[in-house]
Amino acid sequence: MTPGTSGSKGTIRVLQLYPRDMNIYGDWGNALVLQQRLKWHGYAPELLEYNPGDDFPDEVDLIVAGGGQDSGQLVIQDDLQMRADTLRGLAEDDAPMLVICGLYQLFGHFFKTRSGTVIPGIGILDVETHGTDERLIGNVKVTTPEFGEVLGYENHSGQTTLGPGVKPLGTVEKGTGNNSKDGHEGARYRNIVASYLHGSLLPKNPAIADFLIRNAVERKYGSFTPGEPDDHFAVLAREHAARRPR
Ligand code: GLN
Repeated sequence: MTPGTSGSKGTIRVLQLYPRDMNIYGDWGNALVLQQRLKWHGYAPELLEYNPGDDFPDEVDLIVAGGGQDSGQLVIQDDLQMRADTLRGLAEDDAPMLVICGLYQLFGHFFKTRSGTVIPGIGILDVETHGTDERLIGNVKVTTPEFGEVLGYENHSGQTTLGPGVKPLGTVEKGTGNNSKDGHEGARYRNIVASYLHGSLLPKNPAIADFLIRNAVERKYGSFTPGEPDDHFAVLAREHAARRPR
């Protein structure tokens, strides 16, 4: 049996939140990377999806949540409020989560759109977002204290400001990130990584994928023994992304 592919070390249940409405610019790739890297580390991934109206699954070990247009955010907002306590309970219990762009905004206090509509968030993250007339589009390079250089692609008009309850994921070297003022990109809180970066994020940033996996495994099984992931394509993807002019 090939080491690291048997899933013999245990099962990890990865839940993708609202993939029908919140899943753009390749965000689904994040779930696929977690699936593959879990196998390489010797764990059996179970990929689950949650859409509005579904039963919320038991025993969720790791959550991935993608971006979406303002219209997608409007579709899921009521259901998200219904699930706020469950998601907050998981977050406060240190379940790892990756929340991107549109759901990053709604994990915060609110997103006020350009036209003045306030879409309430679930306030797990101490951030707020205001829609603007400026669209922030392009490749992004971020220096982070935890994950080294993070690469991705942004496309948003909402601008997010961090409160004292979160730390930024990092500082933007190229691109804009959270807003056009303070040079911050993303947010960190407990085991949540929040970011504006699509592309998708995890294929180019395996350090973040392994952070999520390590925390999911330690939370469930007490300790994590890494396997031997194949980073060949991650290296190529990073080289390609780093060459993009903007
Ligand atoms: N609708 C939000 C914005 O434009 C989120 C966009 C996204 O998820 N890419 O700010």
